[in-house]
Amino acid sequence: MAEYTELEHKAAGHDGTLTDEQGLLIFKPLNEQELQFYKDIQQQQLTDNVESEGDIPLESWMPAYLGVLDEGHNVSENLAKDVQVIDSGEDLINIPNFPTSQDNGTSNRFLVLQNLTAGFNKPNIIDIKLGKILYDENATEDKKQRMTKVSETTTSGSLGFRICGMRIESNKMTSTLDPNHHEFQSQGEYVFINKMFGRTRTVEDVTEAFETYFANSSLNEERRNHLKTIFLQRLQLFFNTILNSEVRMISSSLLFIYEGDASRWDEQKDEDSLIADEFIDYEDEESQDSDSDDIVPKAPLSLMALIDFAHSKVTKGAGYDENVIEGVESLLSIFSKLSD
Ligand code: ADP
Ligand code: MN
Repeated sequence: MAEYTELEHKAAGHDGTLTDEQGLLIFKPLNEQELQFYKDIQQQQLTDNVESEGDIPLESWMPAYLGVLDEGHNVSENLAKDVQVIDSGEDLINIPNFPTSQDNGTSNRFLVLQNLTAGFNKPNIIDIKLGKILYDENATEDKKQRMTKVSETTTSGSLGFRICGMRIESNKMTSTLDPNHHEFQSQGEYVFINKMFGRTRTVEDVTEAFETYFANSSLNEERRNHLKTIFLQRLQLFFNTILNSEVRMISSSLLFIYEGDASRWDEQKDEDSLIADEFIDYEDEESQDSDSDDIVPKAPLSLMALIDFAHSKVTKGAGYDENVIEGVESLLSIFSKLSD
């Protein structure tokens, strides 16, 4: 019997996101605007086929979108409808026995996305919220006021980004964190750094926060330096993507993940990929009729992705997103110092 559990490896956000037994997918409570954004981006990719001077398309930074799950229904049916946008056209995903809602008559819907932590043995995660402006035109007066205040009093306002949270292995820098800013998890192996940490960072000490993220005690200096460099390179590529994308994204995040298990670095001879591979490249279960270890996703040693589109929209003809580009510029300048 398949089991679905609360996603454990996460750096921020609301509760209620589930993952399957193998941890290949996540099921995020559905938000119509987020769904629309995934669909629009995919559609644009199919119809426009703009080869924008070798830039990486926005979609490549996003988790693969697989469809919508209606709790209690046969999921592959629903997926089949939405999944056609994925190139290979095969019935790739089978989600048996998804838990049904508690007979309260409501049908909960989920967005089915690629689990970006799949394949990582010890994912170290940071969530960085982009943008100076943190509300959109649909926000209530009250929310506008609150979000303006948050921006004015945090690095959202000064730098155009804010660290939302981290979930990393404990390291020698995490032991000096303010007790109000973190809690240990998994018998102290991991530390969850909460949003109050990010909200209290300043222009002066935010660089140190990134040092904390990379201060993994299982990775040697060369590996830690590799990480700082490759994330800088990704930010440079992402900057170009944003310059060529006509979208407006309010409170979406960059998600960084790296492998903290040194044996996986050994296995892969320190070979990391700048851009994540296509998600769907695992073998067909049926054809192998073996047991459980037949789906083996290839995981990189680190990756950067763009997530959280509940306040995002495609805005054809409107030029690039100035609100987002500023934060990316600040990150670029911090990471070029980090990786010196
Ligand atoms: P919310 O709308 O609640 O803020 P997010 O989409 O920002 O939700 O996700 C919250 C957290 O869940 C992120 O910080 C990240 O750690 C994790 N997460 C989100 N999407 C994925 C994904 N596709 N794969 C793995 N982890 C994810
Ligand atoms: Mn979020």
